[in-house]
Amino acid sequence: MQMSRAAVLTHFDSPLEVKEYPLPQSVEPDAALIRVTLAGVCGTDVHLWHGQLPIPLPVILGHETVGVVERLGTNLIADWNGQRLAEGDRVTWSSSITCGRCYYCRIKRQPTRCLERKAYGISYDCRQPPHLLGGYAEYIYLRPGTSVFRLPDELPTEAVVGAGCALVTSLHGLERIGIEWGDTVIIQGSGPVGLACLALAKTSGASRVIMIGGPEHRLEIAGQFGADYCIDVTKTAAEERTKQALDLTDGFGADLVLECVGIPQAVSEGLELCRDGGRYLILGHYGDAGTIAFNPHVVTRKQLVVAGSWGFEPRHTSVALQFLARSRSQFPFENLVSAPFPLECAFEALQATAGWATAKSVIAP
Ligand SMILES: [Zn+2]
Ligand SMILES: [Zn+2]
Repeated sequence: MQMSRAAVLTHFDSPLEVKEYPLPQSVEPDAALIRVTLAGVCGTDVHLWHGQLPIPLPVILGHETVGVVERLGTNLIADWNGQRLAEGDRVTWSSSITCGRCYYCRIKRQPTRCLERKAYGISYDCRQPPHLLGGYAEYIYLRPGTSVFRLPDELPTEAVVGAGCALVTSLHGLERIGIEWGDTVIIQGSGPVGLACLALAKTSGASRVIMIGGPEHRLEIAGQFGADYCIDVTKTAAEERTKQALDLTDGFGADLVLECVGIPQAVSEGLELCRDGGRYLILGHYGDAGTIAFNPHVVTRKQLVVAGSWGFEPRHTSVALQFLARSRSQFPFENLVSAPFPLECAFEALQATAGWATAKSVIAP
């Protein structure tokens, strides 16, 4: 029996364990077996590792992955965009599958909140067959209903994983909060989500984008991506950076502030960075990192619109891949990617992400 190795989260806050699982004997008509080329380590994986979301254990982490089709179900003849699909094709896929039938899918059209939503690398107990439902593995089994995307030849694997779920998450978030031509934008956080928001803001008509983040190697990429001004959080206290950012907006604050940090304190800081009548998007809190004291008077007095956004839909992945192929020279997301970690070092990759040591850690099984 052919086996696949996988890095498994068995207990929260403990090292990942490399285990072996059998490859499925057969592939269902609408499913596929993929040999993983590169798996991204997302900030969400760090939240999952800390147990900040209710997930089953043990689980194979990894929800932003590129691989090569090893075996294709007989019905899976085309990708999500209708392009022919064949064994040997390089593909990526939307990390979640929704039911299309529940209250949120059908009536309220909020499929990212589908009551039956399941995500690779998050929702599957890997003791249950087909076991291989996370990216930190040599193989992954794509279940029927997965939105698969064949990658254009000119788009490097590193660019797709470098943009990862950050770009699609940002696309969805900006769609909800809206960005207007000429907007001054402040982005809190220069990790993958902050950098993706920067790329999208720069191509959506923002007049000026101020990045508040760190450390320096991430702000360098922000500079490459066209940030007009960077404030290093590792060198400034909260009051000092708020003052700097407000000074840069003539004391008024930004039209639009995007929270891409995931630390609760960033939210009270971010509300102060909005101009009166401005908009605030809380995008970085995929995990539950706890509560903070917060003054609702600020939202009322400043007449703020505050929004949240969760995950993304296959249509966002489709647009994101087109954007990446089209804007490669302007936004080289492959520059975020560090030297790949082998599967045995998946835990080191996770720790590198947790400590902001890399812009984007990746695993090459
Ligand atoms: Zn993610
Ligand atoms: Zn549903």
